[in-house]
Amino acid sequence: MMKKWIALFLTLVLTVTFASPALAAQRECSFGGYKHVFIVGVDGAGTYFEKDYMTNFHRIFDDGAVRYGVRTETKTDSGPNWTSILTGVSYFKHGAENGVVSGTDEQKFPQYPSVFSYVRNAMPDAELASFCNWSAINVGIVEDDIGVNKQNYAPDDEVTDKVVEYIEAGNKPTLFFIHLDAVDAAGHGYGSSSAEYEEAMKGSDVRIGKIYDAIERAGLMEDGLFLVTADHGHKPTGGHGRFSKIESLSTIALKGKTVKSGGTLDSDTKLRDIAAIVLYALGIKCTTWHFTAKVPANCFNGVIGQVRPVHKDVIDLLCGTFMWIYTLLGAPLDKYFP
Ligand SMILES: [Zn+2]
Repeated sequence: MMKKWIALFLTLVLTVTFASPALAAQRECSFGGYKHVFIVGVDGAGTYFEKDYMTNFHRIFDDGAVRYGVRTETKTDSGPNWTSILTGVSYFKHGAENGVVSGTDEQKFPQYPSVFSYVRNAMPDAELASFCNWSAINVGIVEDDIGVNKQNYAPDDEVTDKVVEYIEAGNKPTLFFIHLDAVDAAGHGYGSSSAEYEEAMKGSDVRIGKIYDAIERAGLMEDGLFLVTADHGHKPTGGHGRFSKIESLSTIALKGKTVKSGGTLDSDTKLRDIAAIVLYALGIKCTTWHFTAKVPANCFNGVIGQVRPVHKDVIDLLCGTFMWIYTLLGAPLDKYFP
């Protein structure tokens, strides 16, 4: 009897001694646990990734973390949201309209650096790439002078082929942003309730699958974080920019070795939090004042999540909250605006 208790006691001691540090290490390894971050941005796709026909999306993210109700910036256009996604700064601060982003070949927001800048500062030799259909992202958001391999291609099949070629050529990017545009075009042309929009979503699903499989084949998912998102949704009749739920809700989906399987991310997750997720995964601490992105809870294993520093952006806090209530009320005045 005594021997049994001694054996039990020893087992307990051994477990506490050896398993706890191992568990702690597992908990901590999300910060800087990744060597590669891939972001695929599907313009105008909102929460439509949720549909059953998105078979590649579900195949990839069924054991990942996905939230379909992520909030966009208050203005549901591409310029405001891609800028916030890539800088971690609110629309009320950067004020980047579509025209501002695309209208110049100078980077317009040096006070709001993109995540590419943070990575470059931390890792002078990192391979960085941004392949976009909507060239405005590479013109007005991603900086020119920090050695990002910026390429603009159209249509989306061309973007996808070039991404696959680039990966198959043996490139191992630390951060790779990829932008697809066909869904947004279908949304503008036919609306989000149309067969054309569904076809465009299915096409994007195939492209997401091709890109993911190329990354996986190259062995980059071993230390890779794969993220899919959209900048905004589309009205059933087409168009976006205002405050209805279908325009204001989007998706963040994550897959990676420390991503919480079945994680749903915080209910207050915003698209701009992607900037915080990227930096966290690559082990870069961000102390820039205007940065109000945060790592959501329920995203990485054992990571409680960060608190959004709302005091740094009181206008976003007040106006954003007010407009969100307006959205929840069904955006009652939206119908009076074109
Ligand atoms: Zn659009």
